[in-house]
Amino acid sequence: MREIVHIQAGQCGNQIGAQFWETISSEHGIGFDGAYNGTNSSQLDRVDVYYNEGSKGRYVPRAILTDLEPGVVDNIRSSPMGGLFRPENIVHGQSGAGNNWAKGHYTEGAELIDSVLDVVRKEAENCDSLQGFQITHSLGGGTGSGMGTLLVSKIREEYPDRLMCTYSVMPSPKVSDMVVEPYNCTLAVHQLVENADAVFCIDNEALYTICQKTLKVNNPDYGDLNKLVSKVMSGITCSLRFPGQLNADLRKLAVNLIPFPRLHFFMIGYAPLTPTKSVQYRLSDVADLTQQIFSAGNMMAACDPRQGRYLTAAAYFRGKVSTKEVEDQMHNRQAKDSPYFVEWIPNNIKTSVCDVPSTDADVSASFIGNSTAIQDLFKRVGDQFSVMFRRKAFLHWFTGEGMDEMEFTEAESNMNDLVSEYQQYQEATAEEEDFEGEEDY
Ligand code: GDP
Repeated sequence: MREIVHIQAGQCGNQIGAQFWETISSEHGIGFDGAYNGTNSSQLDRVDVYYNEGSKGRYVPRAILTDLEPGVVDNIRSSPMGGLFRPENIVHGQSGAGNNWAKGHYTEGAELIDSVLDVVRKEAENCDSLQGFQITHSLGGGTGSGMGTLLVSKIREEYPDRLMCTYSVMPSPKVSDMVVEPYNCTLAVHQLVENADAVFCIDNEALYTICQKTLKVNNPDYGDLNKLVSKVMSGITCSLRFPGQLNADLRKLAVNLIPFPRLHFFMIGYAPLTPTKSVQYRLSDVADLTQQIFSAGNMMAACDPRQGRYLTAAAYFRGKVSTKEVEDQMHNRQAKDSPYFVEWIPNNIKTSVCDVPSTDADVSASFIGNSTAIQDLFKRVGDQFSVMFRRKAFLHWFTGEGMDEMEFTEAESNMNDLVSEYQQYQEATAEEEDFEGEEDY
């Protein structure tokens, strides 16, 4: 078996993490008591990727829940699903990170990190053949962002040949009013460029717009946003959790999707997206799903793929759909949209079908795109960072925790470099000779 160890850190990380476990447990037929109550044997074929089999046939999530304050993890512990998790895997502090990346990364988080790593090690040692780690966290706060990226770098140091994936929630002023979020986010991206293998970008700005415009929810709350997150996380992990061929493990997924090591920030999408009151009237078919997953309105990053080009992409269809029809529709779409795919990576879009449907739609599709359009997300956060940093506004909260201003400068320029690299490959053509030598991008 090729196991994955899951870690959720901070408020957002724990809230989307809990949703993820609730959703996948239901898909695998695992009740909140850890017992199997499903009907379809493929639910258990690869259940070991995410669950340990405990005594008396109990399935236990291979999950570690951590936070610098008790509130959110206590809520999970006392919720109906609380009993699913191994109590020793819940590790929290008391002080909180006060939305300060430096507290999460250098002070409070650094104090708690060893007790978290002890549990990580224990889970890793119990694995037969560990494929890697996944972390859920936000980048705008202090714990998930600061301590989350500290965990990423410590785990990378200890397990350099295992894959490290993150589900990273990007901040938006539409959803949160903490002014220092662009600082926290940029400092975190700086770490993720270097130490993560694959980052699934979940942008609160896009989630908010989808809830308002597509799902017709007037004032979306975190519960509404997180329902979207759990749909897409379930969709893009289904190839890891159920039998099938495409991207069946994290390494294959990374190899197919990442042509250059730094460009590992993915846009993800989901279809169908339908307002609750219209669900019973909507009949999705493969053509409809294909159209939707390529539409900007279904992307969980506020970037328009038509402003960029796809380096690579993967689409996962679920439910009773004809593989032939999926292939035909995807082929047509790619032919029609060919200007939006770089021509110098042939066959850069892969498709798969999983016959176990998601729990909320008979047929659905999820999408992972490595698109140069993701640069817009980094530009947005980078602009918000730069206006404050130019005046050194709010810096004392960070330097007060011992941080050097230099780290801000480095983080800013690393993110700017990332934007230029995406732009460079967006403009690259197959004909160009000696591309490496070009200097005028
Ligand atoms: P931490 O506990 O210090 O890691 O801080 P948070 O996770 O609360 O980080 C704040 C950022 O996360 C802000 O951008 C919030 O909008 C976002 N956030 C917090 N909770 C949630 C959540 O449950 N769902 C989503 N989508 N975003 C969240």
